[in-house]
Amino acid sequence: MQSPVELDAWVARGLRCSKCSAPVELDEQRAVLSCRHCGQETELDRAEAVVWHDAKAEEPPAGAKRGTAGADAGPEAVSCAHCGAVMVRTRGALTSQCHYCLSSLAVESAEVDAEAFDGIVPFSVSGEVARGKFAAWLGDAWFAPGDLTRAAKLEELDSIYVPCHFWRLRARTEWRARVGILTTAAEDLAAGHQRKAGDPGHVRTRWEDQTGTIDEPTLEFESASRVVLTKQLQELGGFDGEHVVAYHRGFLGRRDAELPVLDRKESFARMLERLERSRADRAESQITAERHKDFRATTTTQDTKVRLALVPVYLVAYRYKGEAFRVLVHGVTGTVCGDHPLSPWKIGCLLVVLGAIGLSLLVALN
Ligand SMILES: [Zn+2]
Ligand SMILES: [Zn+2]
Repeated sequence: MQSPVELDAWVARGLRCSKCSAPVELDEQRAVLSCRHCGQETELDRAEAVVWHDAKAEEPPAGAKRGTAGADAGPEAVSCAHCGAVMVRTRGALTSQCHYCLSSLAVESAEVDAEAFDGIVPFSVSGEVARGKFAAWLGDAWFAPGDLTRAAKLEELDSIYVPCHFWRLRARTEWRARVGILTTAAEDLAAGHQRKAGDPGHVRTRWEDQTGTIDEPTLEFESASRVVLTKQLQELGGFDGEHVVAYHRGFLGRRDAELPVLDRKESFARMLERLERSRADRAESQITAERHKDFRATTTTQDTKVRLALVPVYLVAYRYKGEAFRVLVHGVTGTVCGDHPLSPWKIGCLLVVLGAIGLSLLVALN
């Protein structure tokens, strides 16, 4: 946990008052930078349009970049030798612990050349609320030991902005499969299909080709973090495109941001793989025939746009009977996801119940 003394060094990422040049501080709820010296207030622009980049367009040359993420964010970059995350950090900040793995950080003075941030989803849940959500989640954890809420020891409640690519595209999925249609002899006859002489007249499977198309615009996101996975962000409920505002380092306030470890190309490849899988699942679930085989789906994309944005996440570390657990809390909705210990006793009971159900089913079927 950051102590109040350390917080002073984190004041608004070196942003200064336009009137008196004193450091300014961010009021997160109002998105206002205020000067503690002369009281001057500057409202951050939440209405400025966030850019979408054409994914096909060539990357701008390094020198012509709108300002690299590191330079734009003001502070220097630090990298964690343990988990590999690279984070921006206010120059002169006293804290030297990794947000993710809590190990000591080496300050890297080399210039950072990362993709510039286009947008940011500001935190709207306070640390106090996040702590409350975490406590409630612990209490609700179903298969957790009964004493979890009492015995769990909160070690760290930290926050970080996680880099994430948002993708907007049109995806067309064409699929085909051989579907088995069960028909009786009478149905076959009515449909004009002749059965061979001597056919006993049983229900038969007739195989037919079935094809379909899903052609829809879609909005996807892909984590560009070294540590936080796309799957975890999805478990948190994802991040609504409408919460993204144009990036300004003032929005960071005292919080740090991780720099992206994934470039656009790699992000696109991962996103496409996920999209292809989910589209194929969706298409296959549309098949109503009782049997099908040789299912194939191909997904093509067009009008692909991308933006790199920072999304707000609280990081919770807690301990239960000596074992460490990590939990994430959504910085806008307060949704919690993460690990908790399992109660062997409760799981044992569940297995007994499931076993009993299975047994009674077997008995009923015989
Ligand atoms: Zn001032
Ligand atoms: Zn680390």
